[in-house]
Amino acid sequence: MQLNSVTELLGIANFKVAYMVRQSENRIDLVLRRIEEKPCVCSGCGKVHHTPVHSIDTVIIEDLPISGKRVFLHVPKRRSLCHEDEKIRTEELEWLRGRVTRRFAEQIYRLTSITTNKEAGWFLGLDDEKVYRIDKGMLEELSLQRIQKVTPPRHMSVDEVAWQKWHKYVTNVIDVDKRKVIWNHEGRGKAVLDKFYRKIGKKGCGKIQAVASDGARGFLSSSKEHLKKALIVLDHFHVKKYLNDAVDTVRKEELRKARQQENQEVSAILHCNKRFILMQNTVTDKKTDILKKLESLNERVYQAMLLKEQFLSVYTAGNRKDAYTNLRAWIVAAINSRIPSFVELGYKFFRKRHYVLNYFACKITSAISEGINNKIKRLKRMAYGLQRRQILLA
Ligand SMILES: [Zn+2]
Repeated sequence: MQLNSVTELLGIANFKVAYMVRQSENRIDLVLRRIEEKPCVCSGCGKVHHTPVHSIDTVIIEDLPISGKRVFLHVPKRRSLCHEDEKIRTEELEWLRGRVTRRFAEQIYRLTSITTNKEAGWFLGLDDEKVYRIDKGMLEELSLQRIQKVTPPRHMSVDEVAWQKWHKYVTNVIDVDKRKVIWNHEGRGKAVLDKFYRKIGKKGCGKIQAVASDGARGFLSSSKEHLKKALIVLDHFHVKKYLNDAVDTVRKEELRKARQQENQEVSAILHCNKRFILMQNTVTDKKTDILKKLESLNERVYQAMLLKEQFLSVYTAGNRKDAYTNLRAWIVAAINSRIPSFVELGYKFFRKRHYVLNYFACKITSAISEGINNKIKRLKRMAYGLQRRQILLA
């Protein structure tokens, strides 16, 4: 068959068949080439980036069978720099669904709704595991499209949840007063939240009085652009997470050093199973005990812990003015600590100080939505009966 006719038969926009590689009894491999170099759509944030191509990864994708033979497409996927998180990301091709084409995934989904996964797999020559994975992905995608009508909230919170391994995200918008997820969309960052604000329109945006988020750049810039009057709050739940992460960075560094120096005593205290004790926001006997030992054994982790505890004074302040004084003192202490993760956090909270302090004008939090996220995650795992190991990895 002429390659042109095969290209036509495949009908994939902007790709042609360059050549066929090994062709066995029951399998056809087609190497694809891009016809026109259009800008990449980023898989991290969903935006179009005009950055130069960093590298090309060829991935093998299964497509619908032709004449009873399984078809594998070798697709060159470009990787380039994402402006949102400064990481190298693979491009998103909308006709792909993981390691299969979208149309093949749809066929599997249709088959599994009329027969068992095992039979569908047998029919298509796929193993159960692959059928299950594709079916699950399609189900998740469909469940995302279900929330349709949106009533603009007065107080909302927004955050993201990872719903697949490898940077696949869903952005959730929660009506804080109703404690309900009112909108969600695949992806994250400004482009995705813009979609929500556009959906509820100018009038809807005008009704929003406050929005809580994790303070990510994309969420902030989108909210500032669409909400002229609403108060933007950096959620204290996320602030505490940033503090815990900074402590954990120091803990890991010091643990590595202690292991290199074969310092058993310090290693034992900083071991990851003690991590949760250090992360607690409340005072417990175990934590006090560990802190005492750290004070004499490891100054840096001790200092990091103190900085974390000191931050709580911002939230226990009675009003915005006192909170501001405490926050300023904390930022100075963090920057002077010379602990890189805290210096970084000091500058971060300095840049976002208004959002941190807005909490005192409107005490909303996305903690509710975090709770909902965890519930979504747990339900998903239960529904698919995942193994414990996979749950820990997810
Ligand atoms: Zn990007």
